[in-house]
Amino acid sequence: MDLFKQQKVEDFYEIGEELGSGQFAIVKQCREKTTGLEFAAKFIKKRQSMASSRGVRRDEIEREVNILQQIQHPNIVMLHDVYENRTDVVLILELVSGGELFDFLAQKESLSEEEATQFIKQILEGVNYLHARKIAHFDLKPENIMLLDKNTPLPRIKLIDFGLAHKIEAGVEFKNIFGTPEFVVSGAS
Ligand code: ATP
Repeated sequence: MDLFKQQKVEDFYEIGEELGSGQFAIVKQCREKTTGLEFAAKFIKKRQSMASSRGVRRDEIEREVNILQQIQHPNIVMLHDVYENRTDVVLILELVSGGELFDFLAQKESLSEEEATQFIKQILEGVNYLHARKIAHFDLKPENIMLLDKNTPLPRIKLIDFGLAHKIEAGVEFKNIFGTPEFVVSGAS
């Protein structure tokens, strides 16, 4: 059985402007044709052969989808649907349109204590939710902490990008070298 919908995503969504990109993914705004609702379509390039170093391995894409399917929290991006074609897997995600928290803070002249505590609280609530389900994000960095809508008095935080997230099994030591170099902390024991 196919895990992801094999129909053409363009038949169901109008694909709009680019919102951002990562190493092997492009994220574009889109509108669901039947409902008119706006989403973000993350086109993840599939690795075409074992020998290639370009694109994302299928098991890694499935892991990202699998983890997103287990998550439902106000401070974490929600997965709506998944399509697949020959070259890409397309995640239809909740649209997070307020930009990065980092840019929002950089543009502000000052930040009140209440605003600062509200942001920290929401980030920690999202992380706490993940950790309670034994999910480690492994790529928390300013680019992946976004705002749902920056034009509200206390904007809602949304954690995005579960490309490196893993479920940690009880009693199993997890060892891996990955993350974004500037934000990796090495732990010595
Ligand atoms: P990286 O290589 O940095 O790990 P990635 O390829 O896994 O990235 P994402 O980080 O998920 O891709 O998305 C790339 C960019 O697209 C984000 O930095 C953000 O600007 C934008 N983006 C991702 N998801 C959404 C969303 N749900 N709503 C709006 N913009 C988004």
